Amino acid sequence: MIAAQLLAYYFTELKDDQVKKIDKYLYSMRFSDETLLDIMQRFRRELVSGLGRDTNPTASLKMLPTFVRSIPDGSEKGDFIALDLGGSNFRILRVRVSHEKKQTVQMESQIYDTPEDIMHGSGTKLFDHVAECLGDFMQKHNIKDKKLPVGFTFSFPCQQTKLDEGYLITWTKRFKASGVEGMDVVKLLNKAIKKRGVSVILCTGTNACYMEELRHIDLVEGDEGRMCVNTEWGAFGDDGRLEDIRTEFDREIDRGSLNPGKQLFEKMVSGMYMGELVRLILVKMAKEGLLFEGRITPELLTKGKFETKHVSAIEKSKEGLSKAKEILTRLGVEPSTDDCIAVQHVCTIVSFRSANLIAATLGGILLRLKENKGVARLRTTVGIDGSLYKMHPQYARRLHKTVRRLVPDSDVRFLLSESGSGKGAAMVTAVAYRLADQSRQIAQTLSEFRLTTEQLLEVKKRMKTEIQNGLSKSTQDSATVKMLPTFVRSTPDGTENGDFLALDLGGTNFRVLMVKIRSGKRRTVEMHNKIYAIPLEVMQGTGEELFDHIVQCISDFLDYMGMKNARLPLGFTFSFPCRQTSLDAGILVTWTKGFKATDCEGEDVVGLLREAIKRREEFDLDVVAIVNDTVGTMMTCAYEEPTCEIGLIAGTGSNACYMEEMRNIEMIEGDEGRMCVNMEWGAFGDNGCLDDIRTEYDRSVDDFSLNPGKQRYEKMCSGMYLGEIVRNILIDLTKKGFLFRGQISETLKTRGIFETKYLSQIESDRLALLQVRSILQHLGLDSTCDDSIIVKEVCGAVSRRAAQLCGAGMAAVVDKIRENRGLDHLNITVGVDGTLYKLHPHFSRIMHQTVDELAPQCNVNFLLSEDGSGKGAALITAVGCRLRVEQNNK
Ligand code: ADP
Ligand code: MG
Repeated sequence: MIAAQLLAYYFTELKDDQVKKIDKYLYSMRFSDETLLDIMQRFRRELVSGLGRDTNPTASLKMLPTFVRSIPDGSEKGDFIALDLGGSNFRILRVRVSHEKKQTVQMESQIYDTPEDIMHGSGTKLFDHVAECLGDFMQKHNIKDKKLPVGFTFSFPCQQTKLDEGYLITWTKRFKASGVEGMDVVKLLNKAIKKRGVSVILCTGTNACYMEELRHIDLVEGDEGRMCVNTEWGAFGDDGRLEDIRTEFDREIDRGSLNPGKQLFEKMVSGMYMGELVRLILVKMAKEGLLFEGRITPELLTKGKFETKHVSAIEKSKEGLSKAKEILTRLGVEPSTDDCIAVQHVCTIVSFRSANLIAATLGGILLRLKENKGVARLRTTVGIDGSLYKMHPQYARRLHKTVRRLVPDSDVRFLLSESGSGKGAAMVTAVAYRLADQSRQIAQTLSEFRLTTEQLLEVKKRMKTEIQNGLSKSTQDSATVKMLPTFVRSTPDGTENGDFLALDLGGTNFRVLMVKIRSGKRRTVEMHNKIYAIPLEVMQGTGEELFDHIVQCISDFLDYMGMKNARLPLGFTFSFPCRQTSLDAGILVTWTKGFKATDCEGEDVVGLLREAIKRREEFDLDVVAIVNDTVGTMMTCAYEEPTCEIGLIAGTGSNACYMEEMRNIEMIEGDEGRMCVNMEWGAFGDNGCLDDIRTEYDRSVDDFSLNPGKQRYEKMCSGMYLGEIVRNILIDLTKKGFLFRGQISETLKTRGIFETKYLSQIESDRLALLQVRSILQHLGLDSTCDDSIIVKEVCGAVSRRAAQLCGAGMAAVVDKIRENRGLDHLNITVGVDGTLYKLHPHFSRIMHQTVDELAPQCNVNFLLSEDGSGKGAALITAVGCRLRVEQNNK
């Protein structure tokens, strides 16, 4: 008993002794956590310089964008072929991904020999070989005639510019075929395959990659979403940054490699070099008499005789020592037990160093992800592949442990990538295929919204025609753009004076205003107003109810202002198409926007208002003018800026007015001077003249509106409809499976849910994608990152078209004015109002650009109007009062 214990004790002592000796000998291969943290930071810095445009060319980490913008989301399906070149074997796989209920992946694969002379021969020969194997594989699997997409896992550093393009930077590992470096390997492979009549879509897979925020990847346009970046971390240290931790053995490995000075990190960590590292250490130790009693055999001196799988075998906890004995005996060195223990420990140190270094670089990536996400604690999954990780008995455990120690604020799950890079390539292909197909189809959907300059010029031309139709007596009746005279003959001259009441009906809010205009040296306008709600049932009830409600609101306002007894002059901003016969008489042509009260169309609305005032028998008012909001807007701006002769509204609705020559307005007697014409351009296209550019989404929005077939231009341009167009597109894209995982939620089905203000928010450049997602979330739309990119694209396409169409209309107007005046060049100002114009982040800019482009002979200045509907109405009323006095004096 005691003897046995003693023996065991002696043995442990002996082992400890050996271990201590080796530890001391290889101290430079053992790292403290401090060193590892330092390496981790170095790596992280290298990541950042690899991502930067200016620093990338000299960075050791190439951080190659892979153009894989998404990780598989489960919707991949199909039949793919994967070529896996660059691992220990050349493999071809057929992968079938289906997702009926649960996603399943079916694989068949075959390994092909790649003889040495091919690996080191010419590039043509190598790719011919690959193509030949592919042909053989397809023949055997009876898929010769199926046009299957092929994914190409090409595990060498490649500069990818597209998904299906990759320039080999340098060969690594065992490969050294000539004439390939600097070439597009996908092209080379395609060339080789073409002879065989196989059609392929290729893309390269990656070895060490992670999802980086696109805004950090300077080499790729675009700022949103994430893209998989291949770090090519094998090259870490190629700039000398790891010299302090490289040993003489690492240097020797490098000198004897096919690519000296390159892939220095890879040479320290990868399974490819591990056995060789151990062998070099053993040789040196034997030479120094520390092992095998100084015996050195030819086998021990032969490169490649000690393999990485031997390292794995020797480190097995139970049979490790006997394996060591077996392996070393085969090398002819007649090992003692001491030797076996020592060799086992050498293996441990070398493989441990590898795990530690990988942990440090992986830690660097995790740190990066954590920063990108801005979270206190990172939760993530790391997929790992590679035989060292899979086969080595301790490697995975050590790696996990070290990573968790180096990045403590994280929950990292490690996932063994089951079927190796072949499946990875298939997945990359599947994702690529899905995304390519998807973006093609989305682009196709949205391409209908992208108007060419020719199309826009055509819109401008048609608008001009419709303007002419509206002005001419013979065509007026059937004209869509009504060109309604407003009886406003001049813009303000500064002499306007007095207290006025104004009503603003037809916008989002109904308001009553008190406007005090003072002329003289210091012109001032003072305004008081109150907003009143108009309930939906009043908006769409009877005309009498509507006007009674209006008068009731006026009554409340006069009480509020304490002015019930003064018979104030009133301007009535009524933002609907009205056929005016004088400044204070207007027959409603048709309701638009949300209004639909009965018994109003075809009636004089001023009359309706006066009757309602009479019915109430409480106060009296002098209704002087009925004013369209566009005219009010023009007048307000003209009060400050005399060149303002156009008014534009881009709010709930879309409309414009401008000063037209009296001689051109055939509906009104007289040829002298000018009169403001309310274009009512929202109805442009109601005769079908825009149908070639209207989309199915426009038609659908129109079909479900209060006034089907009417205001077709407005329905493409204005705030009331843009969100609804977007919603219709989103539904369609969801139906096609490109959005929201193909699930059309109740929310998405709700009309009006997607308000135009959300377009403004979503399209804001300052918004990160995450915020877009939270807006969609708020709307009850559960979106992925990719979804939000698509939604933003949709919004952009819709609002851009709106701005361009509006610009095309405006171009027609300014050119008309220029021609009226026989000018080569016109300087003019447009007074604008409307929340879409004011708050949308791009609408105004795109509209200005369009006007500049389509009307190059005009210099158009845009001026924001401040409360045109109130102030403008008062100014028109003032002008009306002045004219009345002048007329009475005649
Ligand atoms: P109106 O044209 O009704 O007189 P506005 O000019 O204020 O009034 O326009 C209101 C319309 O503007 C809303 O109906 C909505 O369609 C749109 N809108 C509201 N908020 C925004 C926003 N943040 N960005 C763009 N459009 C908006
Ligand atoms: Mg308005």
